[in-house]
Amino acid sequence: MLALVTGIMCCCQLTAQDNGEYAANYARGPRFRALIHYEPRAEEAHVQFDKQAIEFFRKLTYGEGWTMDVTTSLADYPYEKLKDYSILVSLNAAPSGKEQREAFERYMENGGGWLGFHASAYNDGNTKWPWLNKFLGCGPFYCNNWPPQPAMVACDTQEHPITQSLPQTFVVPASEFYQWQPSPRKNPDVEILVSISPKMYPFGLKDVVKFGDFPIVWTNTKYRMVYLNMGHGDEGFIDATQNLLFVNAFRWVVSRDPSGDPFKK
Ligand code: ZN
Repeated sequence: MLALVTGIMCCCQLTAQDNGEYAANYARGPRFRALIHYEPRAEEAHVQFDKQAIEFFRKLTYGEGWTMDVTTSLADYPYEKLKDYSILVSLNAAPSGKEQREAFERYMENGGGWLGFHASAYNDGNTKWPWLNKFLGCGPFYCNNWPPQPAMVACDTQEHPITQSLPQTFVVPASEFYQWQPSPRKNPDVEILVSISPKMYPFGLKDVVKFGDFPIVWTNTKYRMVYLNMGHGDEGFIDATQNLLFVNAFRWVVSRDPSGDPFKK
């Protein structure tokens, strides 16, 4: 919507960026393309999150600011198709089999964008995909809390565009959270953005995590990626602060598209 510009400005609205330029840039067409991948045969709590996530992202397309495609299989997306997307959002889903994995690797190694939720990064001794750990910047899945529950989290930095508009600590809706070993914090290429607060320990009722470094949102700076550990159950989108974190992360990945920041055009 085009807002009326009144020409009346009080001094508190003046910022260092006021240089006579008009403050807004309105899209005349979709700015970028995003592909959302989910797995309808995954466990029920993951599919619940995925379906709500699809609606969450669909609302962000209102006004046709960007184009969103949804798929249940990356088999239809070889590298030649994937490369036309600014971002792949993986909702509890990962490439399946050699060809899909190779297409995804090629996409990410050549400037592709990725926002991964929860089980999209799950890996253990059976995964047999060493590149995935290089990409995530951490070791395999180590342990988790159970049942899913809300958690106090803390921003590791508020200097990053993803966290600068968030409170230093906040409570996120119920989810299952994975701890990884070695922790991504041990990797100098990783920037940790949000972690489970140590105040949560012992964390869980059935499966209780008693200690340990517990990052849940990070970026491996070698890639254009953000991983968010949230993604389990039907409460993933009930909290405005967490929703803002999701929008910020999505937007930041897109803004670093090698073809240019679409929000500045
Ligand atoms: Zn889960």
